[in-house]
Amino acid sequence: MSARILNGNAIRDQIYLELQAEIAALGAAGIRPGLAAVRVGDDPASKLYVNSKIAACEKLGLASFHITPPASTTTEELLAIVNELNSRDDVDGILVQMPLPKQIDSKKILDAVIPAKDVDGFHPVNVGHLVAGRPALVACTPAGVMEILRRSNIPIEGANAVVIGRSDIVGKPQALLLLHANATVTICHSKSKDLPGIARRADIIVAAIGKAAMVTPDFVKPGATVIDVGQIVIHDAAEAERIFAKFPDKLQAFRTKGSVLAGDVHPEVVEVAGAYTPVPGGVGPLTIAMLMSNTVKAARMRRGARAPAAAASRN
Ligand code: NAP
Repeated sequence: MSARILNGNAIRDQIYLELQAEIAALGAAGIRPGLAAVRVGDDPASKLYVNSKIAACEKLGLASFHITPPASTTTEELLAIVNELNSRDDVDGILVQMPLPKQIDSKKILDAVIPAKDVDGFHPVNVGHLVAGRPALVACTPAGVMEILRRSNIPIEGANAVVIGRSDIVGKPQALLLLHANATVTICHSKSKDLPGIARRADIIVAAIGKAAMVTPDFVKPGATVIDVGQIVIHDAAEAERIFAKFPDKLQAFRTKGSVLAGDVHPEVVEVAGAYTPVPGGVGPLTIAMLMSNTVKAARMRRGARAPAAAASRN
């Protein structure tokens, strides 16, 4: 048996088509949603992430503002930047790329973004709305996972869902979204006992751990849906061999590049699961798609514009 691949790139493209129509409708009403991305310093990974978010804005016709203060920026200086963006009418969404340099109080910065422009869904007010099941800006990666499940017709209501990981940005909001969709949810973490046993009861597993290939086939009930949020770059040849022994293309890519991307789910899970998201090309593309969706939603909410049906069905 080989699992159905849940293609994140195709689902992202579907969402972009919907967003293009929504952005055109807003444009006809004189509204052009805008996203401000703040990247402090020169971290190469942050640069890559922010550049792809800006590129997505350009592709969709959203306004984007790229703010790049130096690595020496203080908490007070960054607060001043955030406050200025909070007050600008052409900025609907603000994202501050993490991680921030050590001297900056990240919590203070994230709390300073006004909830109406918090397109990452990290502000405690938006988290509170999520807990209460009220419309809000929801963290992008877990919202993207829900899009994958819904658009792939994976039954959620009544399903046993096991979320492995309890971070504020993925695991916890994921569990809440699944709960609101009427799944029976179990949250696991590093202190959970008998993780494979708990996971084997799941109809849906969401792995958000950050440990390459930790979810092995013995975690998976035959036919279960396995969503892999993890993104880990493997540089070690022995580890690449361990994970991708049965995947010669991946090993060849490792030999050519000196690194290969792995998820939290062992690729041999395809032999047991009913459906799964690959890495890359699964959850990753949805994170940026939902950031775009949140920016459009923030523009609409701030101006009191009504949501079209396609938008209302997204988180
Ligand atoms: P995180 O903040 O480090 O949280 C990891 C979670 O996994 C923690 O709750 C931790 O438990 C749990 N965990 C660690 N080791 C475990 C073990 N052996 N058994 C069970 N649970 C264990 O990570 P994150 O920010 O949620 O990200 C998780 C992964 O998703 C990373 O690989 C990250 O790169 C990736 N990610 C991808 C996207 C995307 O767009 N695709 C977006 C965000 C994150 P404790 O709480 O007990 O420590």
